Amino acid sequence: MTIRLYEEDSELLDFTATVISCERKGDVYLAELDRTAFFPEGGGQGADHGTLGTAEVTDCHDHHGIILHTLSAPLACGETVEGHVDGRRRLSMMQQHSGEHIFSGLVHQHFGYNNVGFHIGSDAVTMDFDGKMTLEDALRIEALANEAIWKDLPIQAWYPGAEALEQIEYRSKKAIDGDVRIVRIEGYDTCACCGTHVKHTGQIGQIKVVAFQNYKSGVRISILCGMRALAYENELLAENRDISHITSAKPGELAAAVSHLSEERDRLKYELGRMASQLFTGLVRAAQEDFPVIRADFLPVSQLRPSAGEAAEGRQGALVIARREGGWNYALSSRQTDIRPVSRELQNTLSGKGGGSADMVQGVFGEVSEEDIRAAVHQVLG
Ligand SMILES: [Zn+2]
Repeated sequence: MTIRLYEEDSELLDFTATVISCERKGDVYLAELDRTAFFPEGGGQGADHGTLGTAEVTDCHDHHGIILHTLSAPLACGETVEGHVDGRRRLSMMQQHSGEHIFSGLVHQHFGYNNVGFHIGSDAVTMDFDGKMTLEDALRIEALANEAIWKDLPIQAWYPGAEALEQIEYRSKKAIDGDVRIVRIEGYDTCACCGTHVKHTGQIGQIKVVAFQNYKSGVRISILCGMRALAYENELLAENRDISHITSAKPGELAAAVSHLSEERDRLKYELGRMASQLFTGLVRAAQEDFPVIRADFLPVSQLRPSAGEAAEGRQGALVIARREGGWNYALSSRQTDIRPVSRELQNTLSGKGGGSADMVQGVFGEVSEEDIRAAVHQVLG
């Protein structure tokens, strides 16, 4: 069994140890030490990174009590190595993990729900609770959790032993074999946990709920703590500055400004549609032929069919075309004859495809000129 230095002191980053074994596995090496300050991935918390001698530690796992360090280079058996844990990554993990204790402990106190799924992801810390609450409830818990940070309470971790453990009421994520380690934040949480935590709640910095959704029969809440929360807030503020620049609105008035832009866009879209429709009607009236070809690039594809119908009214039929990338969109309409044979011939001549009913066909033509289309219609209709 590897001696776990991080359990005694979560702020210990530099240590020396003896190499028990080191084996190659594919492109990496797996090393066992007699003792380590590297936390192996587990209980929702990611593995520590850092160095052992000159080798990079890129991952760390617990195999039945033996901690295996994933290394970029081999170490010699029996060698004494100096280990260094990446303190920034560890502190971030401890901030997220300790924040989760306070949050989950408070949810348990106030609602009686359990955190049944905990994960420190690369983006956020996700927690799945086995009961329903509202976003407002979650924000109330967030406020209380931040108060716990301001109180700068000690976070204790110890192995009470089997007898004393029976007297302790604690949250547990799953049934645990062997010794149970208890982590306690007085007044907030008592939980069985093997992870690393900051020594005082003040080191968590802050706890921010960043996402909330109903999940299975409960809720999934994502939080960010400490340095991750700060980075997230800076991203949001930078984004707000961009929106403020684009909308010429002050921070705090951005939602109203964007809402105004959205309404304005809808109004202009409506106005544009109305004008396109008027313009098309003008082109239809101006067309002299009994089967006119009307080019209307300004119409959206969804308007081609009704427009072709409008143009064919009181005539033998009509073809409406609109430029698209690599060719044309078209709608062909007639109320007097089955238009499908005409469509098929046009498709053959103009590298097109499409389909529809006897009175309306819609499709595309290939990369041909407008003159080609007009000539083809002329030829097909005689
Ligand atoms: Zn923990």
